[in-house]
Amino acid sequence: MAGKNWQAGSKNSLATALVCLAASAWPCAHALAASGGFQPSSYVGSLDPNVIWEVLIGGIVIASFVGAVAIWVVSALRRVQRSQLRRNFFISSALNHLNQGVVMIDPRGRVIFCNDQYLNLYGLTRADVPRDMTGAQLLEMRRSRGVLHNSDEEFYGRAATPEGLITELPDGRSVLVKYFTLPNGGSVATHLDCTEQRKLSRKLSSTTQFLESVLDNVPVCVAAKNIEDGRYIFANRAFERFSRFSRDHIVGKRAEEIFSPATAAAIVKADTAAISAPEGYHRNEFQVERGAQRRILASNRVIARNEKGQPEFLIALFDDVTDRRSLSRELENAKKFLELVVDNIPVALIVERVKDGKYLLANRSAETILNRSREEATGLTAADIFNPREAKLIVARDEAAIRKRGLLAEEHPISTKDGLRLFLTRRMTVLDDAGEPQYLIKTHEDVTDRRQTESRMAHMAYHDGLTDLPNRAAFLQALAQMIEACAGTDEEFAVLCVDLDGLKEVNDVFGHATGDKVLIEVARRLQETARGGVVARLSGDEFGLIIDGKQPEAGQALAARLGEALANEFQIDGKAVRTGVTTGISVFPHNGPDAAALLANAGAALFRAKQKSRGTVNLFEPEMDQQIRDRRVLHQDLSVAIKNGELSLHYQPQAASGDTVATSRIIGFEALARWMHPLRGFVSPADFIPIAEESGLIVEMGEWILREACREAASWPVPLQVAVNLSPAQFMHGDVVNLVHSILLETGLSPGRLELEITEGVLIEDFDRGLALLRRLKALGVRISMDDFGSGYSSLSYLQAFPFDKIKIDRAFVINLGKTPQSANIVRAVIDLGHGLEMSIVAEGVETAEQLSFLAKEGCDAVQGYLLGKPAPIAQYAPLVGRDNTMEPARKTG
Ligand code: C2E
Ligand code: CA
Ligand code: CA
Repeated sequence: MAGKNWQAGSKNSLATALVCLAASAWPCAHALAASGGFQPSSYVGSLDPNVIWEVLIGGIVIASFVGAVAIWVVSALRRVQRSQLRRNFFISSALNHLNQGVVMIDPRGRVIFCNDQYLNLYGLTRADVPRDMTGAQLLEMRRSRGVLHNSDEEFYGRAATPEGLITELPDGRSVLVKYFTLPNGGSVATHLDCTEQRKLSRKLSSTTQFLESVLDNVPVCVAAKNIEDGRYIFANRAFERFSRFSRDHIVGKRAEEIFSPATAAAIVKADTAAISAPEGYHRNEFQVERGAQRRILASNRVIARNEKGQPEFLIALFDDVTDRRSLSRELENAKKFLELVVDNIPVALIVERVKDGKYLLANRSAETILNRSREEATGLTAADIFNPREAKLIVARDEAAIRKRGLLAEEHPISTKDGLRLFLTRRMTVLDDAGEPQYLIKTHEDVTDRRQTESRMAHMAYHDGLTDLPNRAAFLQALAQMIEACAGTDEEFAVLCVDLDGLKEVNDVFGHATGDKVLIEVARRLQETARGGVVARLSGDEFGLIIDGKQPEAGQALAARLGEALANEFQIDGKAVRTGVTTGISVFPHNGPDAAALLANAGAALFRAKQKSRGTVNLFEPEMDQQIRDRRVLHQDLSVAIKNGELSLHYQPQAASGDTVATSRIIGFEALARWMHPLRGFVSPADFIPIAEESGLIVEMGEWILREACREAASWPVPLQVAVNLSPAQFMHGDVVNLVHSILLETGLSPGRLELEITEGVLIEDFDRGLALLRRLKALGVRISMDDFGSGYSSLSYLQAFPFDKIKIDRAFVINLGKTPQSANIVRAVIDLGHGLEMSIVAEGVETAEQLSFLAKEGCDAVQGYLLGKPAPIAQYAPLVGRDNTMEPARKTG
């Protein structure tokens, strides 16, 4: 950048020196020319020869003797002349051999000398520059030749400056003209062909510009400084941006004038290190404050030396690597994290180089298999680690995986320090860019425990978790095998369906934990009694057994033994628990061709046995099958009964107990469902309600019954109560609260007139849910009564848990009043109990006047039964509800 014209300058100064030398010789040349003896090959000025002649003639006239002196003078002069001549010749030839043109003008403005280069430069000949031509004429002539474009003023004005004048010639060359005035009033002009230099300098400056713009646009900070004074001479844009100082602010200053003392000190230290570094550069990393942030800079300092090898410039390149450092830290962390993961996965992982079979990587879990630390294992091969037999096997499997180039998974036992374990080994080949196997990744997973779990699960799939007996699926399989074995022979066998009596009560009274223990003990006793025969748990309290031998005797004998085995009390947690069994039996081949039929028929026999009496044994009879089929048909018919209008409601009056029927005032009616089957005629609710409950039809049916009863009651002129039975199934499956609420709104029946009769089944199925629903129902303003009290478990806890409005004493107790003394006591106790809980008591099934008077005497609040009125269409009770029965025909359902 600096001194780019120094070469041109030095040539100029040489030319100037010669010109001055020529100028100092000029007076002599003048004198020489006057003597007429000087004819230089180049024309040097226009000296007057008359002067010489005057001197010679004057000399002859004045004194001849002076002639000798004159001769001496002449000869002396000649000597001077010759030496002048030699000198002039030397000067002119020197001037002519300059690489630049020279023109000399005398004080009178005449051209006294121009050298050949001058003429050549401008395409002139000697003849073009005649004697006596003035400098102005010479310029004019050049203008006319087209080799000068400047005016005289411009020419002299510019050429006289130290920079000189550059004239462009038509052929593209450039000439640098410099003009000097001499002390004697003359002048000298030099003309230097600077075409090449101009080209070079133009090139240099465009290169410099280019480099500067490159430097300006690189994202790295670049600054240069003079080493001598430490001042910046250059800073690129990135540097400006980073330092937040403009270039103008930076250039010409030292670091300490720009930056904070700490930063400046760091810079100076790094600069010094670079200057003294023998390799000529210095890399380092340092931190600088930049605003509120601390930045990390990676710097590289390069020293530029001059031709003498002395450090002249320092170029500093640096980059803000703060973000890169944190990124690389993150990468490093991520790598460490991955290593940690690989090392800690519970699967053994080994990476092997395909080329030589050497282990490159192994994780912590692999140490068990490798029998050494993972560090020790790397670099070894299978042959180094395992015994020859094992190694051979491993290498063979490795090779198979490599050949396959995909995934190879297999399970095999490996002996480890923890004994023989089952491993699942996966081999995966990693290919290089050329598609050749490069690495083999092997994972060994200890699946010993998993396989054990799997077999446990398989066991669980066919076994009951509580008793560990085979379950229903396993029992059906066993049955199928048995059938297969006996089919076509005269072998027969029996299927026993055994129901455990009283489990519900045990659960209820002692809790489920005790119930579970009872089941486990029952299972043990059943197995013991079956003596190796098949025993399975089919459902909660139902067991299945298979017994071969002559039937039905063998089956009946086993059933009897089972009854005996379970007749003994159980001692569980110090409590005496008593259970019993009811058994149904079916026989192969007479009672069914396949496992499902045999089991279903044993179940049907059990169902019958339970209906008959608990604790009995019942053999399947074909008509039972018929009954079951009947049930199925009935179910189908029931599903269309509502739609076909076959359902209706009968109403049975309820009365406040009086001593006699006459004094018993009717307070309401219980609605009871009736089904008139198109073929079978009347079907008892005791038959179709359980079918409706089992199938879920009860939800739809219950809705119809409730709506019909409410609609009916709402139409009565006398606002008597209406009681509607709700099935536990309606609580389990339907939105009973919403239903009651919307029907009340829909029919306009006042909630206080509706009574819902529920059985304890509602609370047995799901106590919490049942209780919650009852509370919400009660919140609607309806009354809730506990139906059939005394028939089931009659747990007092239910009465305690929910404030029933009414308790209905089961018909069974009322029937026995006057027959057994206990009944009277029970009825009395229930009445007292209910009153103690502020619940009113209703007695069902009152058929006799004695029963009525007893109940009235004992303080029973209400009565219901044939004595007061049988269930009948409401038309029969029209006067009671305030209707004239002649006006209002009996209502049918619809
Ligand atoms: P429940 O709720 O205990 O109904 C009383 C049953 O006793 C009725 O039998 C009724 O006819 C009968 N009964 C009334 N007074 C006497 C009497 O003095 N002597 C005798 N021996 N029996 C009497 P029904 O109508 O056959 O109903 C039987 C059971 O069917 C009902 O027992 C109830 O559990 C169920 N049921 C009837 N209708 C419905 C209903 O609409 N919905 C639901 N969920 N169940 C109903
Ligand atoms: Ca009832
Ligand atoms: Ca009842």
